[in-house]
Amino acid sequence: MYLKSIEIQGFKSFANKMSFEFHNGITAIVGPNGSGKSNVADAVRWVLGEQKVKQLRGSKMEDVIFSGTESRKPLGFAYVAITLDNSDSQLQIDFDEVKISRRIFRSGESEYKINGSTCRLKDISELFYDTGIGKEGYSIIGQGQIEKILSEKPEDRRELFDEAAGIVKFKRRKAVTIKK
Ligand code: ATP
Ligand code: MG
Repeated sequence: MYLKSIEIQGFKSFANKMSFEFHNGITAIVGPNGSGKSNVADAVRWVLGEQKVKQLRGSKMEDVIFSGTESRKPLGFAYVAITLDNSDSQLQIDFDEVKISRRIFRSGESEYKINGSTCRLKDISELFYDTGIGKEGYSIIGQGQIEKILSEKPEDRRELFDEAAGIVKFKRRKAVTIKK
């Protein structure tokens, strides 16, 4: 499984609709300070369901919507979609390509989709359990995160190992069963 593309429109500094294509290998994004490199990583976190605005370097969720520049009016929504190659069926869904999208409007209304069908955030989280991808996964290592992992409480660090070992989905299911 690998990330094939990211589509962004109206998210942070990306007012125009644009897409990044990736190949199975290493890609580096380079550019001057403030040009939007970290915003690309934020877009991936966000589409995977990040709800903590601090993680997205904002103070409220609306801050992810393009807020305008001297020459351009603010936009009314933000949209991000990522397409993953799933030809190795690592994601338990019957598609060789999986497209996850999220859209948010200034009203706060938001929408998630998996391959074009509206879904809940929970469906996206479940799809990515034990893959290392997802907002709790380790596929995006942010600045300062290594120090955090090293200094965290053992219980918190354990979650990382559970994810790597592939037992998160069983733990979650157990928790749901016990609650019922
Ligand atoms: P550095 O090299 O310093 O890490 P970077 O390339 O990672 O820089 P980012 O942090 O991704 O840069 O981008 C910051 C830019 O994004 C700032 O110019 C900021 O004004 C702009 N920006 C952030 N949120 C929005 C928004 N909602 N609307 C418009 N522009 C935004
Ligand atoms: Mg940066």
